[in-house]
Amino acid sequence: MNLLEIEGKRLFIDYGIPVPEGVLSRGGAVSLPFGFPAVVKAQAPTGGRGRAGGVRIVRDKAELESAVREIIGMNIGGHAVTDVLIERKVESRKELYVSIAVDRSKRKPLIIASEVGGMDIESAPEDRIIRDWIDPWVGIQPFMLRRFILGLGLGKESSGQFRAIIQGVWRLFQDMDAELVEINPLIMTDGGRLIAADSKVVIDDDSLFRHEELRRSTAREMTDLESIARDEEIAFVQLEGDIGVIANGAGLTMATLDLLTSSGGKGGAFLDLGGTDDPEKVKCAVLLMAKAKPKVVLLNIFGGITKCDTVASGLLQAYNEGDLDFPIVARIKGVNEDEAVAMLKGSKMKATLSLKEAVKAAVEIASGG
Ligand code: GDP
Ligand code: MN
Repeated sequence: MNLLEIEGKRLFIDYGIPVPEGVLSRGGAVSLPFGFPAVVKAQAPTGGRGRAGGVRIVRDKAELESAVREIIGMNIGGHAVTDVLIERKVESRKELYVSIAVDRSKRKPLIIASEVGGMDIESAPEDRIIRDWIDPWVGIQPFMLRRFILGLGLGKESSGQFRAIIQGVWRLFQDMDAELVEINPLIMTDGGRLIAADSKVVIDDDSLFRHEELRRSTAREMTDLESIARDEEIAFVQLEGDIGVIANGAGLTMATLDLLTSSGGKGGAFLDLGGTDDPEKVKCAVLLMAKAKPKVVLLNIFGGITKCDTVASGLLQAYNEGDLDFPIVARIKGVNEDEAVAMLKGSKMKATLSLKEAVKAAVEIASGG
């Protein structure tokens, strides 16, 4: 999960990493507790805001007001901007880059730093990028910090601050189960002060149960139905298409979506029943799917732990209780498949043992055929 810049910066403050003074605005009248020039920044959980026009430097009240107005309502990387962060503009001599990220190939956290940070960091030449890997049992060693300080050409006035910032980033990275903590740019002022002008923090989704404090942020990345699903502990994702997909197991669910796509269908909401032998859970899943208003639902079950007749009985219950106005085409195979197909006979569901047939039928129904 990507945190917003402001959320990352609040963490920075907790970990002793200096950030510019700032206020958050949702578009109402703002009075700045600091003077101009200021920077107005779109809060969207994505990078490249600068290039998308979501970061503007303003010199007076009129410019501020029009920048706030123009940025709120922008859409950056698929995210509607509702909030802007207004900060005191920090005078910059140099823009550095600093990050700690998980390096999967080395199985260690990797520190990257560069003296050519800013918006074009992707094109920084290799010889101006410094890397080192942290042994998580040992932490950051003084010699590593000396190498970074030397490589970045930091003078006396900045090196102590740099050490504190890296240690802060490292502690934050560990405490918050981060996959990435990035400061770009880390601004160096004329006096050699270091200030984090931007934050990018990515939290490992699988650790969120440990971070109750981030619950509000996680809700932001989910649709309403996805949050309901999370509360009901159903693995549910909403896509743009009109064909709902229900399968059991993440692999089968993904394979079903792939097959649907290659057959000309468009996957809508999909959900993974996982391993369950409880018809009630199947019923809840189908009723949740109904709220996503699919044109048709493609159900693909490979019975094992999840028995086919359990699924069939859950489906029938859903049809009886809910006012389902979409057809379901089901491919049901595996443990107790014959019972399942027999149970569904005579219902509004079309059950088959062939996946190809089921996919074909779903695509035809969705395209109005
Ligand atoms: P991003 O494009 O989403 O990474 O947004 P950033 O927060 O990094 O802002 C883009 C660029 O705006 C930065 O690389 C800086 O060059 C510039 N910028 C942002 N805040 C400040 C500031 O306080 N002072 C100065 N001098 N430049 C800033
Ligand atoms: Mn940035």
